[in-house]
Amino acid sequence: MIFSCSGIGITPGIAIGEAHLLQRGTVEIAPRFVPLNQVTNEIDRYRQAVVEARQSLISIENKIPKSTWSEIASFVDTHLLMLADAALSEVPIEFIREQNCAAEWALQIQRDALVKVFDAMDDPYLRSRKDDVDHVINQIQKFLLQKKKGDEFPSLQGRIIIAQDLAPADIILLRHQGVAGFVTEGGGPMSHTAILARGFGIPALVGVHHATQVLRQGEQMVVDGRQGLLLVTDNQKILNHYRDLIRASEQRATLLLRLIKQPAVTQDGATARLMANIELPEEIEQTHSFAADGVGLYRTEYLYMNRSSMPDEEEQYAAYKQAVEGLEGLPITIRTLDLGADKQLDSCAKESTVCNPALGLRAIRLCLKEPKLFRPHLRAILRASALGQVQIMIPMLSNLHEVHQLKATLQEVKESLRRDGLQYAENMRVGGMIEVPAAALAADAFARELDFLSIGTNDLVQYTLAIDRIDDEVNYLYDPLHPSVLKLIQMVIDAGKRHSIPIAMCGEMAGDPRYIPLLMGMGLREFSMRPGSLLEAKRVIRSLDAASLSQQVTRMMKHIDRPNTLAALAKLCQ
Ligand code: PEP
Ligand code: MG
Repeated sequence: MIFSCSGIGITPGIAIGEAHLLQRGTVEIAPRFVPLNQVTNEIDRYRQAVVEARQSLISIENKIPKSTWSEIASFVDTHLLMLADAALSEVPIEFIREQNCAAEWALQIQRDALVKVFDAMDDPYLRSRKDDVDHVINQIQKFLLQKKKGDEFPSLQGRIIIAQDLAPADIILLRHQGVAGFVTEGGGPMSHTAILARGFGIPALVGVHHATQVLRQGEQMVVDGRQGLLLVTDNQKILNHYRDLIRASEQRATLLLRLIKQPAVTQDGATARLMANIELPEEIEQTHSFAADGVGLYRTEYLYMNRSSMPDEEEQYAAYKQAVEGLEGLPITIRTLDLGADKQLDSCAKESTVCNPALGLRAIRLCLKEPKLFRPHLRAILRASALGQVQIMIPMLSNLHEVHQLKATLQEVKESLRRDGLQYAENMRVGGMIEVPAAALAADAFARELDFLSIGTNDLVQYTLAIDRIDDEVNYLYDPLHPSVLKLIQMVIDAGKRHSIPIAMCGEMAGDPRYIPLLMGMGLREFSMRPGSLLEAKRVIRSLDAASLSQQVTRMMKHIDRPNTLAALAKLCQ
């Protein structure tokens, strides 16, 4: 039998595996009572379910590699602590004893009581902990409800996860459980969830509507990220076809490895810098495997996720130190926290009253407003700057005031480090991301005040074309080749030349081989991308003639609004 659904492929890879439906929310439990002679049995069932839930959490914790920073483990630890608390380990047992409830119903009564307590709390952070309690209770319920041990909790290793939606933080956890791929009903290819999946090389589809309703647990399926296709099939011929495709792509990747030692230089001698985007310090290893010239974007916010408390200065310093030292002298651009929008912080969750979080208190706006969050972060980055070639980059700038405020804060933080006798690089370079159209239009002003600029096309496209990058309903409008986007990119590159500062691009556009000839023609020479894309980018660059591309693209940009130019552009970017 074959059944197919279409979606948006967010990684070019193919995955074959069995479906695992990830259920969100609470399990529906009906009131149920047992005869007196079964009470002991229910108590035993309850105790056994708690033990199994604990074992399941411990086994997840054990699968987290030791090289990963400790916060993911601490996230699991929090759930283990909740499981051990009398509120979950004892109180439901009292209900079974006193009211003759079935174990599931006793737990449900206790859940409702706990939720009421959390809902009544004034502190939004504490109130948000309700989700953790729910998560742990669901774990116990699932063990209570499963008929045979192991039925409902298969290992996720090699499975294809089917979910309504997944947050960036979920991807980090799923990756550690060895999932083969994932499919979500919502989401867009430029969401942070998608970017993480690409970075980790997990084949995935987003925007597969009704996936959780039409797909069944355990079905054999193929996720084809290149074609945006999901095939449910156990037909061996078809599966073998896809296995061949996986082998062919592995062979292609092996061939590309021959370029490791080759420079990223065009046929006519123009050199490009190829940098890596990383989310976690452990990815530094990959930057060496694919011969990156350094790290062009370190998204520091992932250190803050999947945990109930914020990392302090020391913990951040340890992570940045690991990254800087791991680079063995290569440069690194550490981006200050880009929290907000689809990257929310568990540890300072706010009431969600904001209608447009992407236009709200995000990135530098949030940091400048929350010195308690920002100062230890800047201190940690500055301290890491003493250890290697570190530069700092500010996301989502829209106003020069933000640069001034940032610089003033940096001075104060440097002063505090001096007072504490801690080392830092006095002349650490400060750059900004151009991801808001206002900043691109004022690129000259930003170029005058900053040491470098990096174009974040993921957001620049979102904000220029007014389409939410995580909303699959408007994804069809997401177009990096839109003339307005290209004009803004060109303005930034030209401003960089006028003010003699380097201009990089670190949005997904930079790592897409289709756009590299156009960008080289526009004068861009620094590309930052997920490590796995670096060698393909190098292959493309080595095949180009920069001078003739420059002539061709300059002509195109002059007449960018004409229909025949758009056709020529599309041809160049095939
Ligand atoms: C971008 O917006 O292009 C970018 C690189 O930042 P992020 O994807 O983390 O928002
Ligand atoms: Mg961005």
